[in-house]
Parts: sequence; structure tokens; C-alpha cells
Amino acid sequence: SSFKALQLAPALQQRLQELDYHTPTPIQMAAIPVLLQGQDVAGQAETGSGKTAAYGLPILQYVDTRVQQVQALVVVPTRELAMQVRQELKNLAQQVEGLKVSAFYGGHAFSQERASLAFPPQVLVGTPGRLTDHLSRRTLDLSHLKQIVLDEADKLLEMGFEEELDEILAVLPTKRQTVLFSATMPDKVKELISNSLKNPQFIKA
Ligand code: AMP
Repeated sequence: SSFKALQLAPALQQRLQELDYHTPTPIQMAAIPVLLQGQDVAGQAETGSGKTAAYGLPILQYVDTRVQQVQALVVVPTRELAMQVRQELKNLAQQVEGLKVSAFYGGHAFSQERASLAFPPQVLVGTPGRLTDHLSRRTLDLSHLKQIVLDEADKLLEMGFEEELDEILAVLPTKRQTVLFSATMPDKVKELISNSLKNPQFIKA
């Protein structure tokens, strides 16, 4: 099986070939078609499974590069992961003209992030505390958001970001796609799924 069966845009297919991504990983195989149909997904997958491309490719396919607003937000627990996810998305998006991908996280200069929002990225990766900082200072507009990903949800909750997640989810348009990935599925994560996803497809790979 190959990426060809997955209905991805030609620019993305071409990039995958260049990157020598010949075969989708099991989580990509299962999640990408569901995400491209617009359905919410709750995925159980570990780091190394290819989960970033599993949610990233559908994001890159749906983003409207003519619109300079944050359209997709990926919430991650740590700054290391924020930088890593931004890098992977930028790498996958190399052929997507006019696309800006940014990462906001604690330890990064707030003033620099705020200044960069004069030209908002279409895709933003961020840690919960830094994102709620921007929301409370009204520097970040998420009213045009179409897709949100809660990545490593078990870790987000373990690290005590429940309130920040609620704050972020509360300002998002209700008509949106919500995606959650988690290595484990404890009750707390199941609760988050039932509170923030609509009719999700559960995927385990
Ligand atoms: P992740 O689980 O998203 O952290 O991805 C793990 C690593 O696998 C990353 O370095 C990706 O660049 C790589 N990767 C993701 N999908 C594929 C694929 N279909 N084929 C080859 N490498 C991949």
C-alpha cells in the first residue's frame, strides 16, 4: 500500500516521495482518510508511529494559504515537542506556497511572538500556557480556526494543563475538526474526548 490511495493533494504526494515516505504507517493509513472526510479522530499512538504526519498532512491539505489567519492549532505539552512538530510540518509543507507555520512556547520571547502575529501563521503549534497567555492578552485570534489537534493528550493532562485546555477550547468556533492523540487512554483522556470531540472515530495503531 502507498500514499497514492489516500487522496492527498499532488503537491503533498510529491513531497512525500522526495522525503522517501513510501508507505504510510498504520496510524497514517487509518487516520488520514477519516480526517480528510472531516470527522473528529481520537487516536492512540506513540511517538515514532508517524502521528505527526497523520494529523499534519490533512491539516496541510485543508489550509487556505490565501487567508492569513490561524486555521489550524496543534497543542503540545512541551517546547521540545512544539519545535519538533513545527519542523516536521514545515518539512512536509515545503511545496505548499504561501504557508506559514509557527511555534509558540514558554521560554520563547513573548514580544517576538506577538510581533509575528501581525502576519498570523495559518498553522500554529504551541504549549498550553503560552497559548492562554496570548489569549488573555488578546494578541492571538482563533476565531478563524478550522482544526485543532491535542497531541500527547495524556501528557497534557498529567502536566496539569486541564484548565488551559478548557480556556483554549472555549474560544474556538464550535464548527471545527477536533483531533486528539494520546499514547495511553486513562479515564481523564476519555473524559477530554467526550467533552471536546464530536462523534469521534477511535483509531488504534
Ligand atoms: P512521529 O511519530 O510523528 O514523531 O514520527 C516519527 C518519525 O517517522 C519522524 O521522523 C517522521 O519524519 C518519520 N515518518 C513519519 N511517517 C513516515 C512514513 N510514512 N515513512 C517514513 N518515515 C516516516
